[in-house]
Amino acid sequence: MSQSQLDAFRGGDRLVRIIGHRGARGIMPENTMVGFEWTLRMGVGALEFDVLLTKDDIPVIVHNHQLTSSTTRDQDGQWLRGQEPTICDLTYAEICGFDVGGIDSRSAYGQRFPDQAFLSHIRVPRLVDLLELVARPCFAKTALMLEIKSDPKAEQPGVARINTVKRVVDAVRNTGLSHRTILHSFDWDILAECQRQAPDMPASFLTQMPENEDDAGEDSALGFGAELRKAKSIPELVVKAGGELWCPYIKDINAQDIARAKELGLLVVTWTVNEIDDINQAIELGVDGIVSDYPGRVQHALLARDYHWLPTLQDKEPHARRFPESATV
Ligand code: MG
Repeated sequence: MSQSQLDAFRGGDRLVRIIGHRGARGIMPENTMVGFEWTLRMGVGALEFDVLLTKDDIPVIVHNHQLTSSTTRDQDGQWLRGQEPTICDLTYAEICGFDVGGIDSRSAYGQRFPDQAFLSHIRVPRLVDLLELVARPCFAKTALMLEIKSDPKAEQPGVARINTVKRVVDAVRNTGLSHRTILHSFDWDILAECQRQAPDMPASFLTQMPENEDDAGEDSALGFGAELRKAKSIPELVVKAGGELWCPYIKDINAQDIARAKELGLLVVTWTVNEIDDINQAIELGVDGIVSDYPGRVQHALLARDYHWLPTLQDKEPHARRFPESATV
């Protein structure tokens, strides 16, 4: 392991990292500044989030390539209807006309997250908005798992890839956060471009076996499915691609692959782990980190075992671990 960014994702004795998925999607609107700040104030040490480019080349934090009708309202407060507008066809100013603070509980997507707070007048953030938040001294230890999405409609995918990675890397460098950022993608061609343009930022190799279907309300990422199916060992494939961090889907992991990953010196961070049984299974399998929509559930599962998610808290007296420090307000 050569890069210090990886330390924030490394587990250890009684230590399993928690990474807040899109902030804390189970309880706060996903990929929003209010959700990110809330998650950090819980004392979670790392955030996962998704970045796409707008028509005017601004990196913004949003998961799907379209503004999704189940999470987007127009200026009159009405849920979007009909064709969903595509992020890369909208300028950032146009995107700011939409409200992404709520989830439509009548939708299949909304039914997955019945506990999510319903807010209004919340905009899609720019990447730089989150970077500036995390650059504040009170969040000096926060690590970023920055997912870059491929544009499935790009006429020239190679050109789009180079441009997207450049815009993202420039934003991270300009805010002085490259030493706390790892670049994360299902698209291993994007990761190869990241390694070329930003060898100082580790790449995180996302995998999901093709037989696991996409979840309701989410578009699928351009991935590496066929190669995964052919591979004898996915950890070996990650190492061959130059990876030091492997990020498998929770339903795909098993003890044998985790053991092989450890032999190869890979960190293993699994996603998206929301159910208590899955959280316990991930801990028992010895993963380094857990990406969750419900970081509070993971905190409780760790505390129940006298584990922690931040090394600074791990060595305190047991009673102190029961009342962990949140980030300073
Ligand atoms: Mg993501």
